Amino acid sequence: DTVAEPLHWAAHEVAMPAVVRVALPVPLARLFDYLPPAGGVAAGSRVLVPFGHKKMVGVVVATDVEAAVAGTRLKSVLHVLDEGPLLDAEMMQTLAWAADYWLAAPGEAYANALPLALREPRPLPQTAEPGYALTVAGQSARDAGSRRGSSRALLDLLAEAPHTTAELDTALPGWRPAARRLLDAGLVEPRVFAPTGPAPAPAPPLGAEQQAAVDAVAQSFGRFQPFLLDGVTGSGKTEVYLALIAQALAAGKQALLLVPEIGLAPQTLRRLRERLGVPVEVIHSNLAEGERARAWLRARSGEARVVLGTRSAVFTPLPQAGLIVVDEEHDGAYKQQEGFRYHARDLALVRGRTLGVPVLLGSATPSLESLANVDAGRYLALHLRARPGAVRRPQVQIVDMRAQRLDHGLSPALLGAVADTVERGEQVLVFRNRRGYAPALLCHACGWHAECPRCERPMTVHAQRRMLVCHHCDRHAAMPGVCPACGGVELKPQGQGTERLEEALAARFPDVPVLRIDRETTRRRDAFEQLLDGLRDDAAAILVGTQMLAKGHDLPNLTLVAIVGVDEGLHSVDFRAGERLAQLVVQVAGRAGRARKPGRVLLQTHHPDHPLLRGLLAHGYAASARELLAERQQAMLPPYSHQALLRVDAHQRAPVDAFLAEAHAALPADPALRIAGPMPAPMPLRAGRHRGQLLVEADTRGPLHAALRPWQHALAGLPSARRVRWSLDVDPIDL
Ligand code: ADP
Ligand code: ZN
Ligand code: ZN
Repeated sequence: DTVAEPLHWAAHEVAMPAVVRVALPVPLARLFDYLPPAGGVAAGSRVLVPFGHKKMVGVVVATDVEAAVAGTRLKSVLHVLDEGPLLDAEMMQTLAWAADYWLAAPGEAYANALPLALREPRPLPQTAEPGYALTVAGQSARDAGSRRGSSRALLDLLAEAPHTTAELDTALPGWRPAARRLLDAGLVEPRVFAPTGPAPAPAPPLGAEQQAAVDAVAQSFGRFQPFLLDGVTGSGKTEVYLALIAQALAAGKQALLLVPEIGLAPQTLRRLRERLGVPVEVIHSNLAEGERARAWLRARSGEARVVLGTRSAVFTPLPQAGLIVVDEEHDGAYKQQEGFRYHARDLALVRGRTLGVPVLLGSATPSLESLANVDAGRYLALHLRARPGAVRRPQVQIVDMRAQRLDHGLSPALLGAVADTVERGEQVLVFRNRRGYAPALLCHACGWHAECPRCERPMTVHAQRRMLVCHHCDRHAAMPGVCPACGGVELKPQGQGTERLEEALAARFPDVPVLRIDRETTRRRDAFEQLLDGLRDDAAAILVGTQMLAKGHDLPNLTLVAIVGVDEGLHSVDFRAGERLAQLVVQVAGRAGRARKPGRVLLQTHHPDHPLLRGLLAHGYAASARELLAERQQAMLPPYSHQALLRVDAHQRAPVDAFLAEAHAALPADPALRIAGPMPAPMPLRAGRHRGQLLVEADTRGPLHAALRPWQHALAGLPSARRVRWSLDVDPIDL
C-alpha cells in the first residue's frame, strides 16, 4: 500500500496532506485518517481500509481535511464500496451528534446504524424480493414432459405464475436444488418482484379525542414538534398512529413507528398492513441479517413507505420522512445497555428535529422525563380519556394478604375470584414478575440457602429442570438432594415463581387450561404469539406470566387480572423503582376487560397502606406520576438533574477501587458537578466480577457534558484502566 513519506520534519513548514477521515468499528473514541482513493469519495460512503494487520469496512465521515497528525505513515483507502453516500447528510449529522452525546466510540455508532450485512466488503444486496419465472425453453420442456420429481413440480408451479422465494418455500419445500438444475439448463430465470401491499381496509370513525389528537399532530406536519399522547391501554392510541401514518403517506411521506419489543410487532404489523395497503418493512434484531439489510435499503430508496421496528430501527434512513411515532415511550427497552448506550426515544426526537417532522410519543404510563418535558412546554400533551365502545375502566382492589392462609402464596380472596371467573367461562391473568419455581432454596434444619458463588445472591429453583439457576449470571447447578451444610433432607423452596404458580393453579383448577408465559416457555421464535393464538376467545383459561404478558395481544375474554408479588418493588433503593412499579401495575391492569366485558384487577400485597399503591388505586397513574415528580424535584433527581455513571468491574476488588479513586481525582473541580461515590454497584459481585461505580450529576446538561469528554480521555490514559473494564453511561436508567 502507499505510504505518505514525511517530506519535512517541521510540521509548520508543510501543508498537511489532504485525507479522508473514517469511522471504524473499534471501541476507540477517535476517527482514522487515510489518503483518499484516486477517484475521490463522498462522506457517508463505505470504504475498505487497512487497519493493523486486517482490512476493515468504515464510513467516511469527512473528506478533504488536513491530516490530524504530521509525519504519520498514512495509508490509503483500498477500495470505495459505494458509488454515492450510503448514509445521507441527516444520518451523518444524527450519528455524529449521538456519538458525541452518549460518549460513544464514533465507529460503534456507525456500526449500530448499519445492518451487519452492510458492514461487510460486499456489494449491496438486491432490495426487491427475488424469485423465479419460467423461460420459453422452460415452457416447452414442461409441455414436453421432459423433467421429473421436484424439477417437474417446480416447472408446474412456475407455469401457473412466477413465484417469490418466500412463496416457493411454502409451496415446495426443498425447491432450491431443482431451481439450480433448471437455472443451469436455462429453463427458469431469476425474477425480481417489487413488494406490493393489499388494498387498504377502511378505518373506523375516530372518537372526538382521537380526532383532536390527529388534527393537532397533522397541523405540525413539515416541522419538528414533539407530542405526548397519553391514554390507557385500549383507549385507541394505535388508531391515532394509523390515521396519522395514513395522512403522511397520502402526502407522499414515509413514517417510522417504534415499538419496545419484538413481541409487540406482529399484531401491529398486521394492523398496519391491513389498514394502509402499502409495503411495511419490519426491522428488529431477530431478523435474518440479509432481510434486515434489504429492509433498511428499501427504506433508504423510498420503496418502503412505513417502517415498524424495535430500538435499532431508529437508525433507519428516511429520505422522505413525514412522521416518527414511538409507542410505549416509557419502556426501558429503548435504552441500549452496552456498547453504544443510546436511548432510541431520545434519538427519535433528535432525528425529528433534524428531519423537520413531528414526533409522537405514546404511552398509557408516560415516563417522568416526558411529563417534565410537557411541563416545560417542550412537548404538547394529547389525552385519550375515554375507551372506545364505552367499556368501563377496570375496577382495582387491594387484597390484604397479611395473616391470611396462603396457598403457594395465593390468598383465599384471590383464589375465590379466580374460581368465579373461570366458572363464568372467562379468563384470568395471574401476574408474577419472576420466572422459575421459587426465588430461593432454604434448609429448614440449619438455615443454609443456595447461593451463587459468582454473584453472592440466592439461586432460583427450577423444579421441572431440577436445577438451581442464577438469574444474574445464568450459572446452572444440580438441585442438591440434601443440605450441603448439615446433611438435612428438608430443603424448602422459598417464595413463588411463575412455574410454582402454574403448578398450584393447575392442581386447584384441573379442568381449566393453565398457560405459563415467561422467557422459558417462549424461547422459540413466535412461541409467544402461538401460545396466545391457541387460546379460545369463548372458553375459560388461566394465564400465568411475567411482564411479557403486560402488553401486546388483545385478549377479549380476559376479565380478571391478579397481580402478586409486587412488594419487592416497594422497598428498592433505585429512585426509579416507584415509577416502574406504577407503570407495571397500570400496564398489567390494562389487560383486563378490553372488549365488551368489564374487567377486575386484584393487587395482593403485605403493604395495603403503602402510599404509592393507595395513591395509584385511588387516583390513577397521572396523579401518582405527579407525586413522584414532586419527590424527584425536591431531591433534585432526574429529570430535574442530569447524570452520568462510570461503571467499573474486574476479577479482583483492589483494581476496581484503585481505578475509581484515580477516576475521582481526574474529575475537574467544577462546583456545578455533584459526585456520589466511589461506591460498590447495587450488585457488588456479578458473574465473578467485582463491581463499583461513580455517579456524576449536575442540574443542567452544560457543565456535565463539558466535563465528560475530557474525563473520558483522561480515564483511558490512566495506568489503572488497563486492569479493569469500564464504561460511561450518560442518562443511565438503572444505577
Ligand atoms: P391502544 O393502542 O391505546 O391500546 P387501540 O388503538 O389498539 O388502543 O384500540 C383498542 C381497540 O379499540 C382496538 O380493537 C381498536 O380497533 C378499537 N378502536 C380504537 N379506536 C376506535 C374507534 N374510533 N372506533 C372503533 N373502534 C376503535
Ligand atoms: Zn442444613
Ligand atoms: Zn450468578
